[in-house]
Amino acid sequence: MSEFRRQSLVAYGQPLRETIADRPAPRGTEVLIRVICCGVCHSDLHVQDGYFALGGDKRLDITKDRALPFTLGHEIAGVVEAAGESADGVVVGREVAVYPWIGCGACPPCRAGEENMCAAHHHLGIAADGGFASHVLVPHPRYLLDHAPLPATFAGPLMCSGLTAYSALKRLGDHAERGPVLLVGLGGVGMMGLALARALFR
Ligand SMILES: [Zn+2]
Ligand SMILES: [Zn+2]
Repeated sequence: MSEFRRQSLVAYGQPLRETIADRPAPRGTEVLIRVICCGVCHSDLHVQDGYFALGGDKRLDITKDRALPFTLGHEIAGVVEAAGESADGVVVGREVAVYPWIGCGACPPCRAGEENMCAAHHHLGIAADGGFASHVLVPHPRYLLDHAPLPATFAGPLMCSGLTAYSALKRLGDHAERGPVLLVGLGGVGMMGLALARALFR
């Protein structure tokens, strides 16, 4: 079994540390992706802290959602390295972006196709091991997206800051046709929103 290197969260509030494990062998519909790159999202820093600050001295504890050591990272692009016997349509060597918002598959939001809203989710890098690693295991090929001709370094962040900005802009509906659109804040999501707004609302 080959090496599987990860930058792991081993204790909340502490720097990540390299851990080495056996590389997982994909079974059933699973697909093993060799990671090319994985973006750093501000949510990674909150998970590393183990809480979200709620204002004042209030904190939302999120340390119960995962066992340590844990691999953060949900803006993943990589190459298909191996696939389970039931992972249909998977091409080894194909470059893909990995949709990380994976649900339980059984609850009402999942059955409605809104796995990102699942309360019992397996979101990669949040509740299931993510992309700050040499490899990541994806439960089904339907979470893999072709991103050509975009480079992997752009395709990975599209899975979080890209989708976040895009879904917010889509909520504007036809308001954007009638007047200016104001973006408040130009961090990672805001810059993505600016680029997408220019493309959507010409
Ligand atoms: Zn994110
Ligand atoms: Zn669900």
